[in-house]
Amino acid sequence: MGMREFGNTIRTARIKAEMSQKMLADRVGLSRESISNYERGEVQVLSPAMLEMFASTLGLDPRNLARIAGYLSPSDTAATNSSGMKTALITGITGQDGSYLAEFLISKGYKVYGMVRGQHNPKQELVQAMIPALEFVDGDLLDQSSLVAALEITQPDEVYNLGAISFVPLSWKQPVLTGEVTGLGVVRMLEAVRMTNPGTRFYQASSSEMFGKVREVPQTELTPFAPRSPYGFAKAYGHYATVNYRESYGLFACSGILFNHESPRRGLEFVTRKITNGVARIVAGKQHELVLGDLQPQRDWGYAGDYVRAMWAMLQQDDADDYVVASGATHTIEEFATRAFAAVGLDWREYVRSDPKFYRPAEVNLLIGKAEKAERALGWEPTVDFPHLVRMMVEADVAKEGVTTQG
Ligand code: NDP
Repeated sequence: MGMREFGNTIRTARIKAEMSQKMLADRVGLSRESISNYERGEVQVLSPAMLEMFASTLGLDPRNLARIAGYLSPSDTAATNSSGMKTALITGITGQDGSYLAEFLISKGYKVYGMVRGQHNPKQELVQAMIPALEFVDGDLLDQSSLVAALEITQPDEVYNLGAISFVPLSWKQPVLTGEVTGLGVVRMLEAVRMTNPGTRFYQASSSEMFGKVREVPQTELTPFAPRSPYGFAKAYGHYATVNYRESYGLFACSGILFNHESPRRGLEFVTRKITNGVARIVAGKQHELVLGDLQPQRDWGYAGDYVRAMWAMLQQDDADDYVVASGATHTIEEFATRAFAAVGLDWREYVRSDPKFYRPAEVNLLIGKAEKAERALGWEPTVDFPHLVRMMVEADVAKEGVTTQG
C-alpha cells in the first residue's frame, strides 16, 4: 500500500466515472499536471482535506482511500464497517460451492454479495429463493472493470473467488475460454483487489486437478503439479498468481487446493451427480441405462458443505497461506456407482455401460490428498464420509423424482 496504489485507485475511479484528468482537476481545484502526478504515485504527502476531496468527487470511501495511501493500518479495516458486520463477495455464487459458502457466512453474521454475470442468469432466482438474505452484484471474470466496480460497490472484507469454467471435459472443447476465465480471471480479480483495497482478504479456489499425473501419493501442499487438462493448467496459473500477489504486494491471498467435493447441489454434468440422478431416473422408470466414461479413475471425494468451512477458516488466520483440503480416502468411479445403485437395492452392473466417447483425452488416474496442514492449522475436519455422501446424494435425487425405493 502507498501512493502508487492510491494513484491507481483514483485513476480507475476517474475512468469509471468517465472523467478526464482535466475534469477531475477542475472539481478538486488542482492543475491537470497535479492530477497526473497523483495518478503516477509521485505525490508523497496528502492532506486530509485533499483525501476527502478525492473521495467525495469520485464516490470512494475516504477511510478505504486513506488505508490505500498508507495512512491507516490494515487492522483499521474493521473500523470501515460501522455495524461491525463483515462483508464478503463470492464469485461463482450460482455454482455448488457458492450457495453452501453463502449460507455458512450468513450463519456467521456476514453480509454476503454474490457476483452474477450476463443479462439474465436463471440460476440467480434459484439461489435467491434458497438464500433470501443474499444480495447480488453484477460482474464477469472476463471483464476487468466490472470486477473493480463490484468491489467498489460491495466494499468487501473478504473475497472468495469460486467462479470458473470448472467442468474438466469442457476445458478440452473450450481451452481458450477456460484459460481466460479459470486462469486469467484470477489475475483480474487480484488486480481489482489491489486497485480498490489491498487490505481485502482473498481466497482462490484451486484444485487437486493441478496434481494431474501425480508425482507422489498422497498429495500435499508440497507435491509438484503435473496438470493433465486445460482446466488443470488454468488452475495452476491461478494458483501461482495468488501466491505471487501475496509475495509481490503483500496481499492476504490464500489458495485452497481442494479435492473433489460433491453434494445434492452438484451440477448434473459431473460424474457423481450424473450417477445419482441416473439412479433416481431409473427407479422412476424414466431411463433404463446409464452411460458413463472410464470407471477406473480414483478420486478423493468429500462433502461440499464441509469444504466451504475450510475456505472461510483460511481467511481467519494471522498469515495467508495455501492448504490442501481432502478426505484422505480414495475410491473408483465404479465404487461410487456400486454404492449409489445399492442404496436403492439395485445392481449397478445391470444398468451401467462404459463408452469410450466419454473418456478424457488424458486421464488423471489417482487423486488422494493429505489435509494434515488444514487439520492442524485450521482445526478443520470433515463430517461426512464417502458412504454417507453417496447415500445423501441418491436420497435427494430420488426424493426429487417423488418415488419410493427398496434401499
Ligand atoms: P460450479 O461449476 O458449480 O460453479 C462455477 C461457477 O462459476 C458458476 O457460478 C458460474 O456462473 C461461474 N462462472 C463461470 N464463468 C464465469 C465468468 N466468466 N465470470 C464469473 N463467474 C463465472 O463449481 P463448484 O461450485 O463446484 O466449484 C467452485 C470452485 O471451486 C470452482 O472454481 C472450481 O473449479 C473449484 N473446485 C471445485 C471442486 C469441486 O469438486 N467442486 C474441486 C476443486 C476446485 P454461471 O451461473 O454464470 O455459469
